[in-house]
Amino acid sequence: MRRTNSRTPAEFLEFGNRQVSVPKTETRAERVTQPPESSRAVLAIVLFGSPGSGKGTQAKLLSASLSIPQISTGDMLRAHVRQGNAVGTAVESKLKAGILVKDDVVNSLVAERLGQPDTARGFILDGYPRTVAQAETLCGLLKSRGTQELVIHLVVDYNVIIARLTGRRQCPVCGTLYNLNSRAPKVPGVCDLEGAPLMVREDDRESVIRERLDAYQRQTCPILDYFRQKGEQIHDVDASHDQPEAVFRKIVGLIRER
Ligand SMILES: [Zn+2]
Repeated sequence: MRRTNSRTPAEFLEFGNRQVSVPKTETRAERVTQPPESSRAVLAIVLFGSPGSGKGTQAKLLSASLSIPQISTGDMLRAHVRQGNAVGTAVESKLKAGILVKDDVVNSLVAERLGQPDTARGFILDGYPRTVAQAETLCGLLKSRGTQELVIHLVVDYNVIIARLTGRRQCPVCGTLYNLNSRAPKVPGVCDLEGAPLMVREDDRESVIRERLDAYQRQTCPILDYFRQKGEQIHDVDASHDQPEAVFRKIVGLIRER
């Protein structure tokens, strides 16, 4: 097992036969001189994360540092809606209503996307698979192209997330966001700028947040079980207490240790 130490100003990992640097906060990325290990398989990073886990942020950090695409099925579907094509027209009402788009539609979008050359060195899946049927299709796709998967689950302590989100207050006049835990207004309950009474946003109410977290749990557990039954290791990463950079470094550690 390779362990990092504090000698280097940046962390490095081999990725798809190429060595990339992962800059630490406040440090400059530098290249190391060891030859890259050519035996590294192309990797599909499958990222799961509950509401409030910062999954999108992590996907972007990984994409930038590894120079591999972030494949978000949500973004792809919304792009089709903007283009007004056949797929977009078919899924628009479902997206608006928050209903899951049919497996075969999403699966064929992903299959097509994975056929593009920028995925040759690896990719990050964000928001896919969302059902067990999608997970089965994904495993078939990865197997046929000889891509290894690394399943990462960003886990949050629900109480921490609820405290964080329910502490949010917003000024209805100027839109300034406050947080009772970290950025409280100078005078409790009113905006610093013009003194308007602060409001709790509808989607920040505790019952709404609990419902979103429960829905996530109901949807995701069977998919994680599917991967486990296949003998796949699920890497749980605690994302409730650390800053995004620290969470990112934990994920980089997992990629390195695989
Ligand atoms: Zn205000």
